[in-house]
Amino acid sequence: MDNLNRQLLDHIKALHGAGVEWLPRTSALEVATQSASPGASAAEQLTSFGPTGDPELSNRRVALTTLAGEVKGCTRCAELCSTRAQTVFGVGNPLAEVCFIGEAPGADEDAQGEPFVGAAGQLLNKILAASGFKREEIYICNILKCRPPGNRTPLAEEAANCRDFLERQLEMIAPKYIVALGGCAATNLLQTTLSIAKLRGRFHVYRNSKLLVTYHPAYLLPNKDPSKKKEVWEDMKFLVTAMGRSLPDSSSNTDG
Ligand code: SF4
Repeated sequence: MDNLNRQLLDHIKALHGAGVEWLPRTSALEVATQSASPGASAAEQLTSFGPTGDPELSNRRVALTTLAGEVKGCTRCAELCSTRAQTVFGVGNPLAEVCFIGEAPGADEDAQGEPFVGAAGQLLNKILAASGFKREEIYICNILKCRPPGNRTPLAEEAANCRDFLERQLEMIAPKYIVALGGCAATNLLQTTLSIAKLRGRFHVYRNSKLLVTYHPAYLLPNKDPSKKKEVWEDMKFLVTAMGRSLPDSSSNTDG
């Protein structure tokens, strides 16, 4: 019974990480039971969810969940897969218009299996709220799906190893807009060595998406460089305006 509960918990975490926000109670148990069967693929398991009312949403959920399962078993980076607690695939709306991409999971993300849940994640939540975005309407992921030990910067080889997963993930979500949070995301998505200061303030092109570069929330924390908050706020206003959205009435800055 403990084993079944463990499988159920792991499976629900993987589904949540892939953007699945709810499950019918009975279907969740059916899926967990099927997980014990080595022949059942994630896509097959998801068919038991029943219709969502939106075939495109269902298709993307199935595709993302299948990819998340593939990432979960990845051993391409020998060091990372031996030190990670779990992979951190991504979270949010599979139909998101905008996708925020950071660097790699930190300790909190590694422990919880979800990106941007630590101190930088709390700050990202404030930035999103001030810009009129709900976390559940966007999609959030990282360049790397595994935590580098000690939160070191991802190696170029690791980013290259993980690139295929990110590309497929973005292909499935097909966001109109991408926000690259920090130098690692900008460097890897745009294949550039230019600084954030030189890249921000305008849209770049990543495949079919408009890509905006801004500072990583971790860079804005009190022990780093909180003076960059003003620039991030300018970037978010630029994004919101380009998307044809309005800022919340209460938005005046991202302090606090
Ligand atoms: S970082 Fe990406 S490529 Fe490397 S082991 Fe993790 S999932 Fe695989």
